[in-house]
Amino acid sequence: MINPASRTKTIELSQIRKMFEVTNPDAINLGIGEPDFDVPQNIKDAMKKSIDENDTHYTSNKGIIELREEIVKKFKTENGINTDPENILVTAGASEALFICAQAFVEKGDEVILPNPSFLSYEACINIAGGTIVPVDCTMENEFKLKSDDVAEKISKDTKAIILNSPSNPTGAVMEKEDIKAIADLSMDNDFLIISDEIYEKIIYDKKHYSPAKYSDNVITLNGFSKTYAMTGLRIGYLTANEDYTEELLKVHQYNIACASTTSQRGAYEALTGPQDEVEKMVSEFKNRRDLIVSRLNEMGYETVNAEGAFYVFPKIEDKDFVTKAAKAGVITVPGAAFGSNGEGHVRMSYANSYDNIKRAMDILEERVVNG
Ligand code: PLP
Repeated sequence: MINPASRTKTIELSQIRKMFEVTNPDAINLGIGEPDFDVPQNIKDAMKKSIDENDTHYTSNKGIIELREEIVKKFKTENGINTDPENILVTAGASEALFICAQAFVEKGDEVILPNPSFLSYEACINIAGGTIVPVDCTMENEFKLKSDDVAEKISKDTKAIILNSPSNPTGAVMEKEDIKAIADLSMDNDFLIISDEIYEKIIYDKKHYSPAKYSDNVITLNGFSKTYAMTGLRIGYLTANEDYTEELLKVHQYNIACASTTSQRGAYEALTGPQDEVEKMVSEFKNRRDLIVSRLNEMGYETVNAEGAFYVFPKIEDKDFVTKAAKAGVITVPGAAFGSNGEGHVRMSYANSYDNIKRAMDILEERVVNG
C-alpha cells in the first residue's frame, strides 16, 4: 500500500455511518440526520422536466443565474443579508461549502473556534486543512447554547475563524440574538471569520433565527436544501460572503467540482420559487415529535432540554452501555461523545422518524433498557 498523505492519515471515518452497518434492519433508527419526508412533488417535476429538456450540461461555476438571483432575494427578505448574484456560490451541499471555506481560509498555525459538541465534519475539515481546533464549551446548564462571553475568552492572535451552527446538530440549541450579535462584533474587532452554518434555520420552533452576516462583514453564510426540502441525496447547497472572500472560495470550488449538479440546481430553483406549504407541514410535524420525545425521555428520568430547533435531542444518559443496549433492543442512537468531549454522558437522538416509530422506540427504551 502506498502511504496516504499525512493530512488524511489522522482522520477517522464517521462513527455514525458505522453504527448503521452493524445493527439489525428492523431497528428503529433515531440515529439518522436526514428528514424522513420525500422531496416535494413540484421539485421532482421541475427536475424531471429539466432532464427531458436536455438541461444537463455544465453550468457557470457559481451556479445558474436564475437560482443565484433567487438566493439573493431569500437572503435579503429572510436573513437581512444584502448580497448579489456574483457573490453567491451554489455548492454540492453545505458539506462542500464547509470544505471549501476550510481549504480557502485555514492553514497550519491558524486557530478555529468550534462549539463543543458540534457536527462531526467541522473538526475533520479543519484537520484536513491543517488548522488547530479551539473548543468552546456548550453546556447543558446553558441549554447547549453557545455564549459570546465564552467565545471571547478563546480569542487569540492566531484566531482565524469560528464556526457557528444555530440551530445546532447535535443538540438542537438555538443561539440567542445577543450572542450572535456579540460574536459578530468580536469578529470585526479581532479580524476573524465567522463561518455560519444555517442549514437548520427553518426547522425552528417558537423562536427566531438570526444571521451574523447581518451584523458583520467577516461572515461566510452557508445553507442548503437537504434539511428544509428533504433533498439530501441531491447534494445542493449555497453560500454567500463579501466579494474578497467569494473569489478565494471560487478557486477551490472551481477546481473541486466545477459546478453543482444542473438537475439539482433546477430543483433548488423550484424549491425557492414554488409553494412552501410542504416545509410548513414538515416543521409542524417535527414540533409534535419533539414534544413527544422530550416528554417521554424526561419521564424516563433522562434529563432532556426542550430543544428549540433542528430535529435532534441530546438527553443526559450516563450509562456508558446505553447505546449498545438500545441497539440490541431495536433502537439506534448515537453516543454524544462522537460530537466532542462535552457530548460525553449524552446521547443524540434524531426525531426524523415517524411519530408512531418514535412512540414505539420510547416504549422499547422504557421496557427493555430503563426497566430491563
Ligand atoms: N451542517 C450540518 C450542521 C449538518 O447537520 C449537515 C448534515 O447532516 C450538513 C451541514 C451537511 O448538509 P448537506 O447535505 O447540505 O451537505
